[in-house]
Amino acid sequence: MMWLDYYSDSHGLYLASYDEQFHVAGLHCETFGPAEPGIGFYAIRYPFLENEETWNSGRYDGTIVHKFRDLPRLYEQAKQMGLNHLLLSGWHVDGFDHGFPIYRPDPELGTAEELAEHVQAIRRNGGHVAFYINSKLLNMKYEELTSFRDDYAVHNRTGLMKIERYGDDNLSFAVLCNGSEGWRHYLFETVRFLVDKIGADSMYFDQLGMSPPPFCFRADHNHRHDGWNIGYGQFLDQVNERFAIGSMYEGVTDIHGNKICEQLISTFFYHHSGAFPELYRYTFPDQRLIDMIYPSKKQAMRPVHVSQVSRDMIDRAFLIGCYLWMYDLENDNTFQSDPDMLNYVMKVVRLRKQWLELYGQGTFLDDTEIAHSTSGVTAKTFCFENRETIITVCSRNPESAWTIDFKPKERTVKSADLYELATDSHEGEPASNCKILSVTPLTHEGEPIMQITAASARLAFIHILYDEM
Ligand SMILES: [Zn+2]
Repeated sequence: MMWLDYYSDSHGLYLASYDEQFHVAGLHCETFGPAEPGIGFYAIRYPFLENEETWNSGRYDGTIVHKFRDLPRLYEQAKQMGLNHLLLSGWHVDGFDHGFPIYRPDPELGTAEELAEHVQAIRRNGGHVAFYINSKLLNMKYEELTSFRDDYAVHNRTGLMKIERYGDDNLSFAVLCNGSEGWRHYLFETVRFLVDKIGADSMYFDQLGMSPPPFCFRADHNHRHDGWNIGYGQFLDQVNERFAIGSMYEGVTDIHGNKICEQLISTFFYHHSGAFPELYRYTFPDQRLIDMIYPSKKQAMRPVHVSQVSRDMIDRAFLIGCYLWMYDLENDNTFQSDPDMLNYVMKVVRLRKQWLELYGQGTFLDDTEIAHSTSGVTAKTFCFENRETIITVCSRNPESAWTIDFKPKERTVKSADLYELATDSHEGEPASNCKILSVTPLTHEGEPIMQITAASARLAFIHILYDEM
């Protein structure tokens, strides 16, 4: 019997052929070099088909992770983690990366009525439900959509349709033109269905702020060939006029950032090559960013170096005031398989909620008000006009006391309180509010400085209140 075992001391992956006829077959394992970290496994069979014969390997084009009836349980799970906003992807016919743009509930997951019932129950319980919609792709396999595709796809100067590839090698997609009235209308009607019929109060438009803008030369679309950004702007205006929903899109762009509630950044992609989300956060402090975070182990969705900086990514999102995006792909990418990091992220969410509930968002000032901090300590500030300041702190040596030199400018500090990450893992316990060791007024290059000394857990925030001016 042919078998293969890839193993460590505690885990393993076992592949074998249980064919009792011992037909020739193969099991393979391969790596692709540093440019594509990871490892691939596959099996080979030789069905030797004659003309007209068929062979079926069984279902392999995607699996069902959750059904609509799982929604109440998933919402409870999210609530326990301190979260209240679910994003449903793969909810539509043919599922994620396949069924674009057939945005109707997949009957394999349950009925539309069932979906609506669960979504509305979550909303009644204080939760929010967003639906994934791809903002531009049409799967080329759909013959019934041929005329829709031919009418509304992006076409180049010579009349060729723009095609892109994602997911499996056998998938290709036409890029639909947001400058065409027909596609914009279709997208809008999808939102209307999900809001009015299903009860959603949030949308996620994949690729909208992320993918490169193509030129389209279709004269009957009635737009300039370089009008891509205008098309999405019109669509978002239309959605905002009609629906009171909290929407998100992938990517970050100042062209549309003021038309959307949250923009999804992916700091992990660029962490090792100079990611600098602070720049956008500082330039547009009124716009909210969401950052993707990953568990420190047992996720196969991203390369291993993403998991190796799991905690750093969570800390950075907290420091600069980003919302958190987490997956729950069960056997692929979920914090449920990483109890230590789950415990950590739950404490971070509690601390962040404490900050928001007590004081609100504030305006991000990066480190422009920090004159100096102990080595291994990063601090950022958020201002609330001239009345209050929040300083977020991350210490790489949480056992040691640290010092931050903060510039209060002409303001007089009335009080300074430290809120740190809960040090034990009791469910629902608020982060402790402990006193700062000392706040000492000094001067630095002629400027007044408040030197704050404290000892705290890895993450903390300091609330500073000023005397009325
Ligand atoms: Zn066009």
